[in-house]
Amino acid sequence: MAIVHFPLRLTGRRMIAPSVAHLSFVRDDGVPLDYIPGQFIQVHFQYADGAAARRSYSLATIHDHALAPGEAVEIAVSYVTGGAATALFEALPLGGQVMASGPYGRFCLLPADANRRYLLIGTGTGITPYRAMLPLIEQLMAQRGVEVVLLQGARTPAELLYGDDFRAFADTHPGFRFVPCFSRELPAPGAAQDHADARQGYVQNALAEFAPDAAGDIAYLCGNPNMVDACFDALKACGLPIPHIRREKYVSNK
Ligand SMILES: Cc1cc2nc3c(=O)[nH]c(=O)nc-3n(C[C@H](O)[C@H](O)[C@H](O)COP(=O)(O)OP(=O)(O)OC[C@H]3O[C@@H](n4cnc5c(N)ncnc54)[C@H](O)[C@@H]3O)c2cc1C
Repeated sequence: MAIVHFPLRLTGRRMIAPSVAHLSFVRDDGVPLDYIPGQFIQVHFQYADGAAARRSYSLATIHDHALAPGEAVEIAVSYVTGGAATALFEALPLGGQVMASGPYGRFCLLPADANRRYLLIGTGTGITPYRAMLPLIEQLMAQRGVEVVLLQGARTPAELLYGDDFRAFADTHPGFRFVPCFSRELPAPGAAQDHADARQGYVQNALAEFAPDAAGDIAYLCGNPNMVDACFDALKACGLPIPHIRREKYVSNK
């Protein structure tokens, strides 16, 4: 897939956690945006001194084919104190434009895979590729009965990004298990995220319960580099071959 540069126009912004914005754009040059769920785009801008800057964002749009002109290009942006891209996005008015390029990356579901189960693991905004993959996951479950366990790490229920989307998908797809792992605060009894599959602690600690299996599992790890490394080590210790542990670390592009 060729890398292209294109303008994006902001059409919507809502906070989905205390410091995470869900941003909706449309590609502003009338051309479809072709991408494979799991890929990311880069946003290009300038630092105050005029030097070129770029930051990467996974596409969050729930879709399984190219985004037609006018269809939402969605990303989740974690706002960080003093962040250059954070300042750009916070100041961007509705209708404002940014330059972007992409799509990039190979953190995608592969058609040739013949596994019995996917273990999808993400923390923070590292969960967005899995939201984009939902239609493909639905197809894979229907076509070859693959099972999916999604382990999502968050500190608190308020920081569980897109938890409602994943819970709704799990409720209608018996082969899909959604396991939110809360490291600091569990949902209050009766609250929306209060579910028998919620766990206390880090995703890497919940992993053992699902008995990762070298013969049948392929794992995807996305987000915080420490979490990615911890899960990678745990999965390798379970015997998973390295090509079956696919990783995307959200490191700064600075
Ligand atoms: C492949 C890839 C995909 C990515 N996808 C996403 C995504 O979907 N959503 C998203 O929000 N980010 C994503 N990132 C990270 C993103 O590209 C930026 O690094 C992030 O948004 C911070 O940019 P900034 O310019 O606001 O902060 P910067 O100017 O880069 O950093 C400002 C300060 O904040 C610190 N900092 C940077 N990031 C964090 C953090 N996460 N937590 C705490 N402190 C931090 C820096 O060390 C620095 O001190 C991705 C990165 C990669 C490599």
